[in-house]
Amino acid sequence: MSERWSPGTRIGYPSGGLALAHCRQRFLLGPQGTLFPCQWLHERGFPVLVEHVLGSFDGEPVRLLELERPVELAGCSWQTLRQLMLESDVETFRLLGYASQIGTWARQHRFCGSCGAPMELLPGERAMHCPHCEVQHYPRLSPSMIVLVTRGDEVLLARSPRFSSVTAP
Ligand SMILES: [Zn+2]
Repeated sequence: MSERWSPGTRIGYPSGGLALAHCRQRFLLGPQGTLFPCQWLHERGFPVLVEHVLGSFDGEPVRLLELERPVELAGCSWQTLRQLMLESDVETFRLLGYASQIGTWARQHRFCGSCGAPMELLPGERAMHCPHCEVQHYPRLSPSMIVLVTRGDEVLLARSPRFSSVTAP
């Protein structure tokens, strides 16, 4: 894991630190970037659906504010992760990629899929808990991998049988 960005579910002190504002897979971007003082965001009165601790960035605790709807703010805009990929350094983009997944998961797990009751965040864990039927939901892991098979200076290439067998010149 990188030194600047470290995921976690616990923050040593309850308020302060930095926060990302996220809504439907877009982040609020200001002149300083995507990280805002958490207190400043709260003072704007945004419609926060759910708030999650993400971890720390440069030693500062970072939270995610998942908003009910995007809110217009002078000097700011809402940007997709793909747009931010081109404007962010690698460490910030790692944070944003993680935050985007947590934000989407948090938005989609506000109510229990079994009984419909409002879910509660399990303290100290990345999990939502239903106090009515005791179901717990964790973020889904979707691992993927890419492999390059080589032999000397040869590379193994494969194609789907439904593609044309004609090779390019
Ligand atoms: Zn339930």
